[in-house]
This record gives sequence, C-alpha cells and structure tokens, in this order.
Amino acid sequence: MKTIIEPFRIKTVEPIRMTTVEQRRQLIKDAHYNLFSLKSEDVLIDLLTDSGTGAMSTNQWAALMKGDESYAGSPSYYRFEAAVKDLMPFKHIIPTHQGRAAEHILTFVVADGHGKGKIVPNNTHFDTTRANFEDAEIDARDLVIKEGLDPSLEHPFKGNMDLDKLEALLASEADNIPMVEITITNNAGGGQPVSMANIRGTKAICEKYGKPLIIDSARFAENAYFIKLREEGYRDKSVKEIVREIFSHADGMTMSAKKDTFSNMGGWLAVNNDEWAEKARTRLIMTEGFPTYGGLSGRDMECIATGLEEIIDEDYLQYRIRSIQYINERLDAMGVPVMKPAGGHAIFVDAKRMLPHIPSLQYPAQALAVALYIQGGIRGVEIGSFMFGRQPDGGEKPAAMELVRLAMPRRVYTQAQADYIVEVFENLKNNISDVPGLEVTWEPASLRHFTARLKPLN
Ligand SMILES: *Cc1c(COP(=O)(O)O)cnc(C)c1O
Repeated sequence: MKTIIEPFRIKTVEPIRMTTVEQRRQLIKDAHYNLFSLKSEDVLIDLLTDSGTGAMSTNQWAALMKGDESYAGSPSYYRFEAAVKDLMPFKHIIPTHQGRAAEHILTFVVADGHGKGKIVPNNTHFDTTRANFEDAEIDARDLVIKEGLDPSLEHPFKGNMDLDKLEALLASEADNIPMVEITITNNAGGGQPVSMANIRGTKAICEKYGKPLIIDSARFAENAYFIKLREEGYRDKSVKEIVREIFSHADGMTMSAKKDTFSNMGGWLAVNNDEWAEKARTRLIMTEGFPTYGGLSGRDMECIATGLEEIIDEDYLQYRIRSIQYINERLDAMGVPVMKPAGGHAIFVDAKRMLPHIPSLQYPAQALAVALYIQGGIRGVEIGSFMFGRQPDGGEKPAAMELVRLAMPRRVYTQAQADYIVEVFENLKNNISDVPGLEVTWEPASLRHFTARLKPLN
C-alpha cells in the first residue's frame, strides 16, 4: 500500500472565525458581490488563490532569519540565484517583487517602445500576462489545443500548445512575433499540464523561425510531477531531472514565487540573452530595485531558495496532486460538472453547465462563486466572462469557458476541510436554479474582476 497522507505536521495554527449564512448574505452584499472585496477574516475556507497563501516550513522560517538586507551583493541573492540555477540553468536571474513585475519588464524588453502590430502566442495567457502585453498594444494570442477548451473531456495534457496553429502563425507573421510563451501549468485553462513532448515541439518550431521560447513557470513542479505520472518515459526520472529538462528547452522564464516555491512574495525573470538581460536590469532599477534584490527583501530570497528545494519533494507533490483529485472526484460523483481531469492547483467547476439558466454575460461563474460563499463561507474565483469579457476596444464578449476556480493553498487545509467543501456543494446543488445572474454596476479601465462592483439581477 502506498501511503498518501499530509507529509507534514502542524506547528502553528491560525484560527478561523465562524460565520452564519445570514451574516455572509450581508457581507457579500456590502462587498458588491465581488469576492476580492471581502475581508479575509469573513471567509471560512479561502480558495481565492494559491498565490502567496502557502504555509512555510520550519526551514523556511529559519532561512528567513538568515536574510541579509545589504543593498548590493547580498549573500541572500547569491543563495537565491544558485537555487534557481540548480533547477533552471539560465544565465541571468533577475529578482522581481512578483510574477507580474517580471512580465512587465519582459514586455518592456520585447515591445521595445512599439508593441503595436506585434503578436505573442501562448497556450493561454494568464490574466496579468495578457494585461501587460495588451497595455503595450501587443496582441496576446491563445493557442491551446482544442481539447483544452472542453472542460469535461479527459486528456492527460490539456495545457498543450496547438503546434499546427503555432506553426501557421509563425509561417505568416514571423516578423511580428518577438517571442513565444508557454504557461506551465496552464492556469487560465484549468491548471492543466503541458507535456514534455509539447514543450520540445514548441521549441522546435521556435528554433525554425529563430524565436526565443519563454516559460511562464508559476507551477513548474506540479507540471513536472504530471509529466512523471502521465508521460511515457518519465516514470523513473526524478522530478528534479524533469524540471531541468523542461527548462533546457527554453530561452528564459518568468516566475511567480508565490506559487511553486511556498513563498508569500516574490518572482523572477531569467534569460540567456545578454542584450535582453541588460535592458531588463536597466528597467528593473527604475521600477523594482537594484539587480541583486529586485523588488525583494533578502529574507524573501532566502525563503524562495529553501522553498525551491522543498517543492520538488515527491511525497509533497503526490499529496498535493492527490488531495485535489480527491475533491474533484467526489464532486464529479455527485454530478457537479468539474473540469476533468483535475488540474494541479485547483478544482474548476463548469458554471455554464451547472447554472444553465444564467447567460454568459450575466456571469454564471461569478454567480456560483457568490452562492458558494453564502452557503459555506468558501471563497473561490470566477474565471470567465467577468474576468475576460471586456475587450480592448471597449466591447464585451463571452469568454470561452465559465469556470469557478477553487485554488488550494499549499500545505494549508486538512482532509476534514476538504470534506467540508464537498458537503457545501451537496447542499448548494439542491437549489442551484434559484441562484440569480449578476450585472456590473461599476468597473475600472482594465483587470475589472479585481475591483468591479456587481448586483444580482431580479
Ligand atoms: C500568478 C501567475 C502570474 C503572475 O504572478 P504574480 O506573482 O501574481 O504577479 C503569471 N502567470 C501565471 C501562470 C500565474 O499563475
């Protein structure tokens, strides 16, 4: 028998403040039906994001004390750099305060003052990646395989790039494409993994057209573990070997250290190209900080370095992937339409199918997220027309999918809490047709899902 339990024990606890359905009905109304506007103390199980919400280990807390806060040349930077290079052997490692800062700097480098007319293909751009490119007037193009757009279809690597589409785009637009990106795992497409064969295939096309391949790497360890589980030829390789192979096919990476390094903050940009690195560092000094700290404290870099050693632990990854699969399987068994197979960091519920009475532009996934909060104090996030519907030209169109993402923080919730999540769905399912659609009453110029206000229809 293979033991699958939480491979850790708890040393420090944070109390959860209990609330009732009536209280939560008022709290979400006061938050204008936007879950980002809730106070986290008013949430029982916070599945808004797995970003920066992980529990640090004793070794990470100890490493934090070793943080050296020298402005230039801190030993914490060199330890961070060495830990990154141990897994991702790029020439230049540039720390940033989080992933989007790395994206912002990369966008600055590739747009080169005029992004208009340029295109960056990706399997699926994450929201901040897309926003950064679009802000520079770069066309952010999503080219995930068609299987990746069907939530109920089983496929081992639903995050794969559609290589035929990528080749066709490069054949006709090569001059306008400064780089190709691939996101592992494919967050906006359901946390679905990308296979090594697909990464290799993407790289081969990039090489043919002389384009750099950049990996958006937030969940690289989860992706590597899926490759070990599902791809021919990788079962006997260590996750570390798989991670190294992934990055050997790339010319650079952006990283959100708030995901697969168990850190509360941080990120980096890594590239091999000296000219890109120089441009990036010049920009970094203006917007983030000196190149040996970027936007980070020395102690943050220490936590990241230790986290990188822990994240590739295979007992951890087995528990991580299995605990999410467990919730997914229980929901599937009771008839809740979930994305299959389960993603690496989250459960994705298909709101289009669960709430067929709500049209896309009345945001069925936002409506479901609100209902989950009222019913059980669970906070998830909408990934659908509310997040992606607003177009750069000011119009609105339905997103490809209407999903609620229940992202699991790393090493935070217990098995009893996992069972509670399932129970809340059991209760909600019986009166799902009473859940109303929503309309937006106010929104900002971009990334509206973070701050917009809504109200229920009828
Ligand atoms: C979180 C994330 C980012 C942005 O990183 P932040 O640290 O939140 O700024 C970029 N890409 C992907 C795939 C992500 O999951």
